[in-house]
Amino acid sequence: MHETGIALEVFRSALESARAEAGQQVRLKSIRVSIGDRSAVDPNLLEHAWQSIVIGTRHDGAELKVKWCPSRRYCPSCHKTKDSSLGSWLPICPDCGDAIEIDGGLELDLDLVEFDVASPLTKRPNFSRTDHNKNV
Ligand SMILES: [Zn+2]
Repeated sequence: MHETGIALEVFRSALESARAEAGQQVRLKSIRVSIGDRSAVDPNLLEHAWQSIVIGTRHDGAELKVKWCPSRRYCPSCHKTKDSSLGSWLPICPDCGDAIEIDGGLELDLDLVEFDVASPLTKRPNFSRTDHNKNV
């Protein structure tokens, strides 16, 4: 369950961003992460790991929101985009059997951090585990 390590890293990054913005007395309210379907991260496990990190701390109740990012599967023979929720993980077109191109779905990004201070602020940190340029 490597989600625990990822949740810890996300937590540290979120806290770092919030503190850089508003000082040590911040309280995390919610964060949003983008997770790709090929990132090998289970969103449910990540949320459980997140809750186990924040519980009993001043950040207790802070919400982890997940933006699910499906990969794009394209068959150059059919000239069609294929539904990534159907079929197997084999990079083979379910219709013609040719190799398909898979793009994206590797996202693992901290998108948004919301926290409480005297005046609530929102910050977009620059935190990424994937080469985002390849996925855009
Ligand atoms: Zn095809």
